[in-house]
This record gives sequence, C-alpha cells and structure tokens, in this order.
Amino acid sequence: MLNLILFGPPGAGKGTQADFLIEKFKLNHISTGNLLRRQIASETELGLEAKSYMDKGFLVPDSIVIGMIRTKLLKNKEANGYIFDGFPRTVAQAKALDELLDSLGIPITGMLCLIVEKKELIDRLLYRGITSGRPDDQDVSVIENRIKVYQEKTEPLRDYYMAQNKYHCVEGTGSVEDIAQRLIETISTI
Ligand code: ADP
Repeated sequence: MLNLILFGPPGAGKGTQADFLIEKFKLNHISTGNLLRRQIASETELGLEAKSYMDKGFLVPDSIVIGMIRTKLLKNKEANGYIFDGFPRTVAQAKALDELLDSLGIPITGMLCLIVEKKELIDRLLYRGITSGRPDDQDVSVIENRIKVYQEKTEPLRDYYMAQNKYHCVEGTGSVEDIAQRLIETISTI
C-alpha cells in the first residue's frame, strides 16, 4: 500500500499533484478542503460551521476534520492506498491520523512537501480565485492569513514527520509534469 501525505502551504499545488499521483498509482484522494466544500455546497450544519472559519482563512476545528477523515477511512477499507491532501494540518490531527491508521493496520509511506515561495503562492491563489470562484482565494488579506496560519500551525508537522524519517521535499515550481516527476523519483527512493 502506498499512503502519502502531501504537504505545503496554500497554493503549493497539492491538489494538482494529487490528481496526477492518484491516476498513476490508483490511489484514493482524501482532501479535507474538498470534503468541507462539499458540506458547504450541501448546506449541512457541519458545512455552515466550517464556512465561518474557511471564509476568514482560519483552520476548521480539529474535531470536525478528524471526524470527517475517520468516516472516510472506514468507508474505503479496500483502497490501494491514499493521498492525504490538506490533512493533517495540526499536530493534533497528525496524532489522530497515526492512531486511526494504526488501528486499521495502514502505515504512512511518507510525507511529500512542495516548496514554493510566498510571492508565487499569492499570485497562484489570486489567479485560482478568478478561475474557480473560491471566496477564500479572492481576498489578499484572507490569503495572507492562511499562509500565516500555515506557518504557525502546520509547519511544526515537519519536525513530527522528520522524527519518523518520513519527511521528503521537492521544489514546487516549474511545469506540472516536472514537479510530478520529482515526486515520483522521491517516492521511488522511499
Ligand atoms: P488550500 O491548501 O489552498 O488552503 P484547502 O482546500 O486545502 O486549500 O483548504 C481550504 C480551507 O479549508 C482552509 O483554509 C481551512 O479553513 C479548511 N481546511 C482544509 N483542511 C483542513 C484541515 N485539515 N484542518 C482544518 N481546516 C482545514
């Protein structure tokens, strides 16, 4: 089983690369951002609560996203492997994921990080805001807040996965194919 975590700031290209890796390795995509946006579109109670955080660029509470991941994993027991995209985003989420995967006998193969500088991230997100209509991509102060939250809450996961010898980084700029190639090479060394 190949179980990968894609890691990197908003706009690093996790979703784009996830699409590529899913196709190549026949993996199941678990994106908490997509799951949350689906809840918002369906106007569920969970979606309404999540939206109030997402619109401002804050993280949705751990209990909500961990619950969603648990449900999703229990439903997809027969998968070839998983790509976690946008999760875990806090140390509490990483610990919950470890416990959940342990209980299911699923090991994490590695965390793949995409490195992109801040100016490029902001340009990419503003462009995505025009093409996708995502409200959190249309306001520079919300984007800046998401990057700040990433640095404060999510970057510490680097040490968490490094301590498990599971942290691998590639340069996240260049063509989509070049970046995908870098990821595939990295996966082959794990
Ligand atoms: P991006 O990587 O561009 O921020 P996502 O779709 O991954 O896009 O996330 C969009 C928003 O959804 C985040 O800003 C956050 O509010 C919420 N979100 C997604 N995943 C998580 C998570 N694991 N924990 C908490 N909030 C999350």
